[in-house]
Amino acid sequence: MSGAIKLKDIRIKLTSIQMMTGTQKLRKTMRWLRQKFPAPLDVSVRCNVIRDRSGRTYWGEVQERQGKLFVRINNRKSHPLMNEALLHEWAHVITWLGAERDIHHGGEWGLAYARIFDAFQEWNYGQGNTDTFTYSHEKPELRN
Ligand SMILES: [Zn+2]
Repeated sequence: MSGAIKLKDIRIKLTSIQMMTGTQKLRKTMRWLRQKFPAPLDVSVRCNVIRDRSGRTYWGEVQERQGKLFVRINNRKSHPLMNEALLHEWAHVITWLGAERDIHHGGEWGLAYARIFDAFQEWNYGQGNTDTFTYSHEKPELRN
């Protein structure tokens, strides 16, 4: 019966997402971001250890060099936090050439982050089930 086949399909889909490693999820998020929220410049994304001058680690950063953007995500964080950092930095990427380019976390960035955040929750690695996905911090107030 078709009903039974559908149930089986759903179970396999859920299992495959649960079995994805953190790195696989990050790569998938990266591909999704590039497609859904195209960057205004070429972007390179790397995950490695990031420290400031006093030796403290932080989540991530975006730098522009020679007309190209370089996103770095701290790989010493857990994968859900790295994924969250990627969404945060991607909001910087898509507003990089915007009107508020000199303001670090202004309204333009906030709107972009809210759009990315909402779309990500809806997408949920292609699973489209928001029930199983919650973040520990508050959603930004700014919305479309
Ligand atoms: Zn930021």
